[in-house]
Amino acid sequence: MKKTIGVSCVLGVCAALFYLLISVGFAGFGAATSHDIVLGVTVFVLATFLMLAGQLLAGYYRRVMAGTLKKSSKIYAELLRLNEKYTSEFYELDRFKLFTFYCTSLSEWQSRNNDKTAIAYLCVVVKSNMDEWTEIARNVEYNRIKYNEYMSEYVAAGANMRATEKQSHEQRLCAQTLLRPVTQFDLWYRNQHIATNGRVRSGKDYKFTLDDILSRVAFTNNSQASTEYQRSLVTPKVRSRILKRDGYKCTQCGRTADDGMKLVVDHIVPVSKGGETKDSNLQTLCFECDKGKGNK
Ligand SMILES: [Zn+2]
Repeated sequence: MKKTIGVSCVLGVCAALFYLLISVGFAGFGAATSHDIVLGVTVFVLATFLMLAGQLLAGYYRRVMAGTLKKSSKIYAELLRLNEKYTSEFYELDRFKLFTFYCTSLSEWQSRNNDKTAIAYLCVVVKSNMDEWTEIARNVEYNRIKYNEYMSEYVAAGANMRATEKQSHEQRLCAQTLLRPVTQFDLWYRNQHIATNGRVRSGKDYKFTLDDILSRVAFTNNSQASTEYQRSLVTPKVRSRILKRDGYKCTQCGRTADDGMKLVVDHIVPVSKGGETKDSNLQTLCFECDKGKGNK
């Protein structure tokens, strides 16, 4: 019913607007009288008024219907019973957590704009506090199981029927009353580029479910996730800083790019053996010394 009111009101307003435009158009050409314009405006105002009245009426009708259903609907009564039974069952949890990584250099920011870096970063975060994250995941999983039970009881009460006008109101009322526990936890990685004056230049978000990250942590053998992460931390900015610190020459043999040597930045304690990406664990090597180190 309220849909019909809405549609006819919109059509009325359109017609009035059309009439108004035509009248003004003709008036512009000198063919319409001021009488036409007055008539157009009147029709427009009337149609707007009708539309507002229709909406008020429909809102009133919905409220009356909801009031009636709250007293008479069996499904609604059953839902209230279920809510009472389940409310204390569900864990109250946050739905997500956001981790922001700040880059001050544009090239670093760009090099971090990919799923792989985001996943590696989140894996390290999760791994650093496995107990807490595992517990959150367990609670979310518990909510999911309980929620399925809750919903199947609700559906068994006849929740998915929908035929009459009354039933569609009933469904809306119930939908507003349904419990919505947290059944999925998301981890967000935000890669943010901060200008030297502290202003945010640009940011990009990556979203993964906690379950996804946890299973990656479990699947990836423990060192590999952090290996990837530690390698990803050797950004162009870090590389040039280390090269500069070491005077642009190999710390083993002293050769430079002028000697035709390609210089690389190397982890003194390899990342595969738990070495971290920090200046004290980085050194400049020439290509040959680096290869020699790898063969040891
Ligand atoms: Zn060398």
